[in-house]
Amino acid sequence: MAAMATVVRATVYDRRSPDWTALEAELTRLAWLHDHRDGGQLARLNEHGAASIDPALRQTIAMALEVAAATDGAFDPTVLPLTELWQFDSGGVLPPEPALAAATEQVAWQRVTLTASAAQLSEGTRLDLGAVAKGAVVDRLGDWLEARGIGVYLLEAGGDLLVAGQKPDRSPWRVWVRHPRDSAAPLTVLEVRPGDGRLGVVTSGDYERGLEVDGVRYHHILDPRTGYPAHPMVSVTVLAASAAAADAYATALFVLGPEQARQVARGSAVDAQLVWPADDGVGLQAWRTAGMEAVGGRLNLN
Ligand code: ADP
Ligand code: MG
Repeated sequence: MAAMATVVRATVYDRRSPDWTALEAELTRLAWLHDHRDGGQLARLNEHGAASIDPALRQTIAMALEVAAATDGAFDPTVLPLTELWQFDSGGVLPPEPALAAATEQVAWQRVTLTASAAQLSEGTRLDLGAVAKGAVVDRLGDWLEARGIGVYLLEAGGDLLVAGQKPDRSPWRVWVRHPRDSAAPLTVLEVRPGDGRLGVVTSGDYERGLEVDGVRYHHILDPRTGYPAHPMVSVTVLAASAAAADAYATALFVLGPEQARQVARGSAVDAQLVWPADDGVGLQAWRTAGMEAVGGRLNLN
């Protein structure tokens, strides 16, 4: 299935097969809900500053605000004024410094208000759920499958994973984490067992999207405080109870950098693997929470 400019893959382990056409229709609906272009609810909310919203979209915004609060705005769903300047979706441009400085003033998750069925934005505040849309969409597709009695499945959207239940042969779910500097070998392989529940597995990397100007590479994960790509992290993998939370935390920990990310990861319910350049500039170094260490294979830091 294709949505959100990426491939969405669903694998189910069940005697019955879901109605794939209906699942694809749900995917299309959910992708549209989370897209700030294309005249959907999010676009309307950004345009008018207030709008009634679908429960699925409300759930994503509520989660995004929680992670923004827990990470002191390192993850901030109101980054649209910044991401519009960088235009990563269409190849990217390096914006002038004063424009970025002005846009950072407009990025403030505290200016979003949610009620039971509507959202409200302060003047100039606009939402970009790009960092969590894929995770949120696979979470809701997981709900859709479970409502139809299917509890063992893997959903993937552009590298964001949601795995649920135990496979019939009782083997763990094996997840390859891409090496940030070498596409031939994995950085590591995780072996996860969500038991009866589900687990989101998401990696944010500086290699995903970006542009190069005068030999300098600018990637698409922005520090909302400066308006520029976050440094020095190169790859962050997060395990969380939902793919959307894993997605948001992966972005947040990437922005926070090794020191602060360690503190936030220790104090949160998520497990994390952080990778950044070695101090001597050759190769990479890494840090993992105990829970990540328990499921993570050998790290290839060369
Ligand atoms: P992808 O998986 O598509 O590479 P990510 O999950 O890594 O995307 O999220 C990157 C996208 O999130 C950016 O393109 C931008 O729209 C948005 N974004 C960038 N920085 C932040 C941030 N600090 N907080 C929230 N969203 C961000
Ligand atoms: Mg993300």
